[in-house]
Amino acid sequence: MNSEIELDNIIEVINKAKKIGIFAHISPDGDAIGSSLGLYLGLKQLKKDVEVIADEYSKCFDFLPCKDEIKTTTREIFDLAIALDCATKNRLYDPEHSFDKSNYTVVIDHHASNTYFANLNYVEADSPAVCKTLIKILRRLNISITREIGECLMAGIITDSGGFRYDTVDAETFEFAASMLGIGVNISDIYYRTFDLKTKSQFSLTSIATSRLKFYSKNRIALTYITLNDFKKTKASVGDHEGIVNIGRNIEGVEVSIFLREDIDKSYRVSLRSNKYVDVSELAEVFDGGGHSRAAGCTMNDSLDVAVKKLVKETIKHL
Ligand code: AMP
Ligand code: MN
Ligand code: MN
Repeated sequence: MNSEIELDNIIEVINKAKKIGIFAHISPDGDAIGSSLGLYLGLKQLKKDVEVIADEYSKCFDFLPCKDEIKTTTREIFDLAIALDCATKNRLYDPEHSFDKSNYTVVIDHHASNTYFANLNYVEADSPAVCKTLIKILRRLNISITREIGECLMAGIITDSGGFRYDTVDAETFEFAASMLGIGVNISDIYYRTFDLKTKSQFSLTSIATSRLKFYSKNRIALTYITLNDFKKTKASVGDHEGIVNIGRNIEGVEVSIFLREDIDKSYRVSLRSNKYVDVSELAEVFDGGGHSRAAGCTMNDSLDVAVKKLVKETIKHL
């Protein structure tokens, strides 16, 4: 449960801490990277000794300020460790277990399935992006939202809301975007870099996935997949699969789109999206995953055939 008290407590612990570590989920997306860098820049204004620890991310976010200061590992023990955009402890990217070892921990998130794994947890399930939730925290800390911080926050808001399309987007989100435009944040450039611009590998990977699209249950379910071999063949890099799950979702009549991606450990990372009524977060929870009602994910340790059968069978139950 969120309250003003939790928010006040977060402000207090941040103000008190000197050494702060910022963490986010594995395979970070625009919201994870944008919120980490936005908070990093903000805490630097407060003269904190701050580090961002993040996993490898898509090159399309390379335009963000300070991305070269991101560390892929740390052995520091922080006064305060903050986890952003991360629903569960086992999704947190923390190779040296610094988060656990730190003196105090905070979660700031927007996943309804969050397990409240820190000492203090602030979860805004109706927020379109953790980057949007951060706005009020930065303001309460008297941090000035500069153009650079705005670029980070807008990158997260734009990508996590599908370009202001999902129903969690409210008037405040547009008001913030308008104010960022006013201070010189190039919103059309962020759109271009994160949604429109595709590498040749991304294009090839997408073509493979498109050619494999299958439909089930009177076309209400669309499903496709890519394998490690496809990644190799197309010389794809981290994040090049982003967006593939939307191909199925955008086809008329489809309610649930399922996309499976083979991981290096041979498991399948599953992305689930829905259009109108299926709560895919509930569906993902059946397979120990989670997320939001219209976008969720899980991992399956089955062969492709078995994973597909299980997913289709479970999805039909939720239609
Ligand atoms: P993705 O399909 O990877 O873009 O993920 C869609 C949404 O579901 C994102 O908000 C993820 O953070 C969330 N998500 C994906 N996998 C999991 C998981 N295993 N547990 C909890 N949330 C997840
Ligand atoms: Mn995320
Ligand atoms: Mn998010």
